[in-house]
Amino acid sequence: MTERLTALNGRIAAASARAGHAAAVTLVAVSKKQPAEAVRAARAAGQTVFGENYAQEGIAKRAALADDALTWHHIGPIQSNKCADIAEHFDWAQGVDRERIVRRLGTARGTARPPLQVCVQVNASGEASKSGVAPDDAEALCEAVLAQPGLTLRGLMCIPARDDGERAFTAMRALFDRLRDRGLPLDTLSMGMSDDFETAIACGATMVRVGSALFGARD
Ligand SMILES: *Cc1c(COP(=O)(O)O)cnc(C)c1O
Repeated sequence: MTERLTALNGRIAAASARAGHAAAVTLVAVSKKQPAEAVRAARAAGQTVFGENYAQEGIAKRAALADDALTWHHIGPIQSNKCADIAEHFDWAQGVDRERIVRRLGTARGTARPPLQVCVQVNASGEASKSGVAPDDAEALCEAVLAQPGLTLRGLMCIPARDDGERAFTAMRALFDRLRDRGLPLDTLSMGMSDDFETAIACGATMVRVGSALFGARD
């Protein structure tokens, strides 16, 4: 695991240097469908940021690791009936794509603990079957996140269509910069997975979500 993590971090750093990024790109290690043992091995190798798609699976792993130094991102689509669990047990929610979910997460998180960190998911390739808000509606949804005291707006996230990576990543970076110019406090552009994270970094990603390239194939 140490070798694989070192190799992956090397590829991320090299892509980042080629792109001339000043700040380090954050790696979210996507541990969905991997056993808690795999998370423990990655943690022992130095990785502290993990991503899970399914609330129950993530909650179980977080409990199994019981390590306050870890940061857990919920990266999958969010159903209304999972908002309370996600708000209670995760540090970040990245698949936020409608107002109803924003309100529910905000209410469930409350203000007695640090806010839940939120990325708005954008349907960057315009696929009918995919989750994510239309690019033109991203600003309004970001404003809705800002209105919730229990949430902190961090940025945008996307999963482009397979054949649309570079175009979609470039369009996402332009949208991210435009929203920042309009005053939205965004510092995170989460895009790129095992097959395309170097392209995403070249286009301006600040965070990549990598699973199989680190942990191997999922069952
Ligand atoms: C599974 C998943 C990933 C990681 O995918 P890999 O191809 O294994 O790197 C990243 N982001 C999301 C939203 C995912 O569901």
